[in-house]
Amino acid sequence: MSYQHLLAELDLGFTRLRNRVVMGSMHTGMEDRFWHYPQLAAYFRERAKGGVGLIVTGGISPNRQGWLLPFGGTLNSVFDLRNHRLLTEAVHAEGGKIALQILHAGRYGYQPFVVSASAIKSPISRFKPRALSLAGIASTVRDYARCARLAQRAGYDGIEIMGSEGYLLNQFLCPRTNRRDDRYGGSIENRMRIAREIVEQVRAVCGERFIVVYRLSLIDLVEGGNTWDETVQVAKALEAAGVTMFNTGIGWHEARVPTIVTSVPRAAFASLSARLKAAVKVPVIVSNRINTPEVAEELLAQGAGDLVSMARPLLADPEFVVKTAEGRAHEINTCIACNQACLDHTFRNERATCLVNPRAGRETELVYRTVSGPAVRSVAVVGAGPAGLSAATVAASRGHRVTLFDASPTIGGQFNLAMRVPGKEEFGETIRYFQSQLQRHRVDVRLDTRVDPALLAAGAYDDVIVATGIVPRRPAIPGIDGPNVLSYVDVLRGAPVGARVAVIGAGGIGFDVSEFLLHRPGEPLPMSRDAWLDEWGVDLAVRERGGLKTPAPPQPARQIWLLQRKAGKLGMGLGKTSGWVHRATLARNGVKMLGGVSYLEIGARGLKIAREGVEAWLDVDTIVVCAGQESLRDLLPRAAAAGVVAAERSVETQSPRYHVIGGAKVATELDAKRAIREGAEVAAAL
Ligand code: FAD
Ligand code: NAP
Ligand code: SF4
Repeated sequence: MSYQHLLAELDLGFTRLRNRVVMGSMHTGMEDRFWHYPQLAAYFRERAKGGVGLIVTGGISPNRQGWLLPFGGTLNSVFDLRNHRLLTEAVHAEGGKIALQILHAGRYGYQPFVVSASAIKSPISRFKPRALSLAGIASTVRDYARCARLAQRAGYDGIEIMGSEGYLLNQFLCPRTNRRDDRYGGSIENRMRIAREIVEQVRAVCGERFIVVYRLSLIDLVEGGNTWDETVQVAKALEAAGVTMFNTGIGWHEARVPTIVTSVPRAAFASLSARLKAAVKVPVIVSNRINTPEVAEELLAQGAGDLVSMARPLLADPEFVVKTAEGRAHEINTCIACNQACLDHTFRNERATCLVNPRAGRETELVYRTVSGPAVRSVAVVGAGPAGLSAATVAASRGHRVTLFDASPTIGGQFNLAMRVPGKEEFGETIRYFQSQLQRHRVDVRLDTRVDPALLAAGAYDDVIVATGIVPRRPAIPGIDGPNVLSYVDVLRGAPVGARVAVIGAGGIGFDVSEFLLHRPGEPLPMSRDAWLDEWGVDLAVRERGGLKTPAPPQPARQIWLLQRKAGKLGMGLGKTSGWVHRATLARNGVKMLGGVSYLEIGARGLKIAREGVEAWLDVDTIVVCAGQESLRDLLPRAAAAGVVAAERSVETQSPRYHVIGGAKVATELDAKRAIREGAEVAAAL
């Protein structure tokens, strides 16, 4: 593929963007504290160096009322300019362009000063907003303009006005949250007045030679959202007011339709951007679940937009653009849309990073230094799961001599199972990425090789990295060895499963396996975009307000009981931004989710359980065990295997030096985020 559309310059008349890739706004947590700005600058610099056309910062509030969180990043004074200049100078030094996103959270603010169009509390914040008075609206408009002017003085090439995802301007725009009876409520002309005034005032203070992106909600995905005709009316008015480009916004944060998690088909909402592009003259940025240069190029070639916004994909790989341009697209570390280290961190008030790229947001801390001469070590990595792959590729990229072993015929470890779960096909991209890095850095890969101490001794390695992962736990339930009991590994590898199933264990894997079992063998997967839209009740024609329609009736392949011993709601350990999607999918398909269960016995009849003091048989054909995992580290020297902390100390002075990472180190609460990070950290320290 030549990527001619994606890599084409964009001439905006007063300035040019070097290509059509926009790094979409993403809150990293570093925006909120001035002492993090040097790190934030390093993070942006790396992405600018990687060739991104236009970077949009995380959301910065124009005033205190607009904070998303207490003491959130604000640009309302000349004293803020010095910090922001660190960012703009870093990006400009690499030939990039950067726009500041102005975000007023409105009723989504998680702080006591919240304001909105009307005093209606959002379902996702506990703070009820105060309705802005007319004077309050006027001063908010002025605050936007002041913020934009300060951004210009700080060296930004433009701003993005956040007008979607249910934030303040969206709250004014839609009848769901705007019940005003003054000139800012009622008709669509009135509801869009604040947005129009903001664009006009920003233009007035910043002049014509300044990029003003407006992120417009093209489908609200909530009741009381706007119709398509209203959205086009707003777009035309904002275009006339001076917008340079429109960015695409999809769904409010409180919507009960997923918009960016991994099970959302790639580019699922792109047709909306295409419709907007047909209605306005200024460029349109297409967005949401676009994570490869192939998809981006295809969208532009089809005319779905003029630019493509990718936020998380640039977190996952800062070199996305340069790899695309150099014909190395197969080397891109693709965002798998898991949200585990980016959005889930943000929602926990932790710094955002990336599951597949632990350097993201830690560019100044996790540094891979090149070695040469006597510093080059001979390293054996045992296990080619995410932990071992990460360790092997980072160590080899630094110049160490690396041999990677795996007992199985393929690399990837448990990711080979994860990618079989419907809606998690993206996990296969991580295996493809690591494969490319093994080749690029000339790692000696030995598959089908079960490593034992003798093999390691024969290799005379300086370092041995044990990344042998886990074995599934088999709980001691009477009858567990019966023919009707399968482990999740058997199931995901295609073992036949009956029509009525009990799943023991409701962690991430229990949920995944339940979703897998809702589908019939041979069913076409991944689900088509249209089937997915029907399942979630999305009408891309936006015939009704908000673009919602009645979801298609579910057709589960099996009756499933998903069980855990803990009392309470299931799936509470799943990610904040993705767990609700899994719970909703299972609930819609009639999966019975039971907590507080004791497992008494397995027999021909099924599974006998006790719950709230009552014993009962679940009449099921198959019992699938997803009861967690135990570490596999029999390769560690005997003294070391006694305990992980002791392991690291006791072997430090021996040759070879042993290191243990990923599931082999600790199985509890293991996930790929930790596995990949530990691999990178151990390799960075060699
Ligand atoms: P593993 O992936 O288990 O790899 C260990 C490797 O070591 C294996 O390939 C094995 O063959 C090899 N090995 C073992 N012993 C030897 C030996 N003696 N010699 C040679 N090779 C050996 N995590 C997430 O973060 N998010 C998710 O959404 C997610 N979904 C999942 C869904 C499913 C269905 C499954 C099964 C797992 C999922 N995980 C998820 C968990 C994630 O895959 C694991 O946390 C991760 O794979 C652990 O990496 P690891 O390298 O430590 O171990
Ligand atoms: P897990 O999350 O630790 O869940 C294990 C489940 O088994 C729990 O429901 C636990 O609940 C139950 N259990 C534990 N010991 C048991 C025993 N002796 N007998 C019966 N039940 C027992 O582990 P997992 O589901 O195997 O997942 C492994 C890792 O992969 C997880 O840490 C997870 O982070 C990761 N993963 C993540 C996702 C994701 O979407 N983010 C998806 C898949 C996997 P009770 O003790 O209450 O019964
Ligand atoms: Fe993408 Fe997951 Fe990384 Fe977030 S953590 S950027 S969703 S791969």
